[in-house]
Amino acid sequence: MPTALVRNGRVVTASDSYEADLYVDGGKVALVGQGLSLPADTVIDASGCLVLPGGIDAHTHLDMPAGEITSADDFETGTRAAAFGGTTTVVDFATPEPGESLLSALETWRRKAEGKAAIDYGFHMAVREVGETTPAEMARLTRDEGVTSFKLYLAYLGVLQVDDAAFFRALLGARECGALTLVHAENGGVIDVLVKQALARGETAPRYHALTRPPEAEAEATARAISMAAMTGAPLYVVHLSCAAALAHVTSARDRGLPVFAETCPQYLFLSVADYDRPGFEGAKYVMSPPLRRAADQEALWRGLASGDLQVVATDHCPFTLADKERGRHDFSKIPNGAPGIETRMMLLWDGGVRAGRINAQRFVELTAAAPARLFGLWPRKGTLAVGADADLVIWDSEREARLSVEALHMRVDYSPYEGRVVRGGPVVVMSRGDVIVDHGEWKGRPGRGQFLKRQHAHPA
Ligand SMILES: [Zn+2]
Repeated sequence: MPTALVRNGRVVTASDSYEADLYVDGGKVALVGQGLSLPADTVIDASGCLVLPGGIDAHTHLDMPAGEITSADDFETGTRAAAFGGTTTVVDFATPEPGESLLSALETWRRKAEGKAAIDYGFHMAVREVGETTPAEMARLTRDEGVTSFKLYLAYLGVLQVDDAAFFRALLGARECGALTLVHAENGGVIDVLVKQALARGETAPRYHALTRPPEAEAEATARAISMAAMTGAPLYVVHLSCAAALAHVTSARDRGLPVFAETCPQYLFLSVADYDRPGFEGAKYVMSPPLRRAADQEALWRGLASGDLQVVATDHCPFTLADKERGRHDFSKIPNGAPGIETRMMLLWDGGVRAGRINAQRFVELTAAAPARLFGLWPRKGTLAVGADADLVIWDSEREARLSVEALHMRVDYSPYEGRVVRGGPVVVMSRGDVIVDHGEWKGRPGRGQFLKRQHAHPA
């Protein structure tokens, strides 16, 4: 196994920040110390840079079917783009077809990733029906297959949405087998009525996507999910939380000592409802669910990230090309939901979070790597740079300037929601299990080198 020595950097983990060299052997961190002088196959000078644990994006939708179309990045292009942004692990969502078993869906998603992924990956399992055999399937996935988290949708009526009884049964099943339940918390029934009313009034433009998915619909579903989880004693993780009203329910649950966790995403921190009013059909680029919110919501989310009420920043990366977005030109409800973000997460959060003084570097590592590793059963193999951990690391130049633009980014989609935005701080070298896969903007990785991660039970603490 090749060895590597990363010298003269400042190692930052979720808890520490100190000058040190790292010696990598067998794909793992073998030694951390000052003034290390061991022979190594590769010596990397990290002077003036930080050495961070590789990012973990716990919310991606690669090669994800959505009706007749599919998200634009597959496991090859999506994981390559992730690496260019400093992310070395993704946890994607396997989603069964109606009537399909969870195990069969897992096989499908493993086939999508095998031979293609350039970084390590795991899967959450989406559950769209909770039948007689579902709890046993959940237990088997958790025990034998390394899939220890299950996601249910309280939105997307008639497609992915489950009713309260099904959600409650899934929570009971998850508690039984020690799995973590993820929830897409929006009230799909209310949204369905609002969408039909808007369309009947001839309100078809992208901006009505946001107006028909109000924050109250998210807050109500968040509160309901928390109440149901509390009745079972099962832990709950709210995905892509977007607004102050929903965050208030999470905060209050945590204050009561409930095991409730939540992630937000860069789009809810950096973009706003005003983006739907861009000229022409440009607002369609920002159609995602939940929709973008107001400036006051952004401020509440930043406070949540700083205070600990929000634990994770993930992306919900689910890109669709502009041609695909055109399907909703005359009906916003037909615009495919989703936007690209897998590559830009860490750069945006560093620039808008650490540089702006809202969070410190350790909190940045906590939100982008350590917390998702613990919550999703990857700790301490991933999410930190301790001896014995995978050598997934990022040499991070906090002064590096990048202009986020569709031409410069690597995601397989023809627009960037952040087009033209300049950010400071970004990865210069990215290593996955000891292999340099990105070197000063050059791709050194290869499809298929990423490994499927059998995740342990979550450690929601
Ligand atoms: Zn999602």
